[in-house]
Amino acid sequence: MRGYRIESWGTDPVLTDVPDPVPGRGEVLVQVEACGVGATVLNCINGDLANDPELLPRVPGHEFVGVIRDVGPGVDPTVVGRRIAAYFYLFCGRCGPCTTGLEQRCSRLAGFVGVHRDGGYAPLATLPVRNAVAIPDDLDPIAATVVPDAVATSLHLTHRAGIGTGDRVVIMGAGGGVGMHAIQTTLNAGAAVVGIDMTTEKLDAISDLGAAAARGEDLTGLSPELFGGERATVVVDFVGTPETVDWSLDALGMGGRFVTLTTFRDRSATFRSRRMVFQELALLGSRYTTRTELEHAARMVSSGAVKPVIGATKRLEDVLELHAMLRANELVGRGALEL
Ligand SMILES: [Zn+2]
Repeated sequence: MRGYRIESWGTDPVLTDVPDPVPGRGEVLVQVEACGVGATVLNCINGDLANDPELLPRVPGHEFVGVIRDVGPGVDPTVVGRRIAAYFYLFCGRCGPCTTGLEQRCSRLAGFVGVHRDGGYAPLATLPVRNAVAIPDDLDPIAATVVPDAVATSLHLTHRAGIGTGDRVVIMGAGGGVGMHAIQTTLNAGAAVVGIDMTTEKLDAISDLGAAAARGEDLTGLSPELFGGERATVVVDFVGTPETVDWSLDALGMGGRFVTLTTFRDRSATFRSRRMVFQELALLGSRYTTRTELEHAARMVSSGAVKPVIGATKRLEDVLELHAMLRANELVGRGALEL
């Protein structure tokens, strides 16, 4: 089959002939219909999640959806024909966190789809059967590409931060793939939401979803009181620079929660302990999603409660154009690869 492979970490994958994968014990073979393309796949390709040369060559793409076409030994064959989305983390399914439904905290994590095993930038992929999460058959495959990461991650952070009615939420970097869906999951939870981003196109898209939009190029000039003179109860930060963290902590009122989802290796920030104490702030990390939340995310997209925000869709031979758009900060929401 023709598919993309990463030949060296840090360079874009190459379209080439790839052997058809065969499902091993406990695995399923998936005919990939479409694959989401966002900042995380660029991080994977960059080697930010792992950069061992022995993992290469590697088919990237963790946000894929498709149909199970075959099963390996030990897998119930009645799953053939089922529509699935890939769960990104290669969790063990047996440790303490896994058995309590917190697969994203697996204590024996074996790595990531698209990094430690091949992903969805090719027409066929294999997955451990526990990573193949059933999604509704009526979901359009392109629309469904937002489910396994963009919407599921948004739903998890909404739960993680305890966001509900009465919350005032600021989303920093709201015009990106997860941000555009986090606006929707937090609005659905009953919060008032302000999305911050830089380009007019992204700010318009934020407004279209029903949130207030604020331009964040110069944070020193942006009031921390974005809710009619009141500060936020929650700030969700997808950017993670010293400037965004500092502004975010300042924008929180008494008892506020700061949630970070930045995974870039080179980002760090400092905070004043005194401010944390005097305002009784909480500092939270939110890591991917649970399998149950992924299933819920699929139902939300299927029912129309969350609208997929997909800025561009490309065929296999043109997918690197999506990478260029992401690097240039030109993609509103997610990109999608149509197989
Ligand atoms: Zn585990």
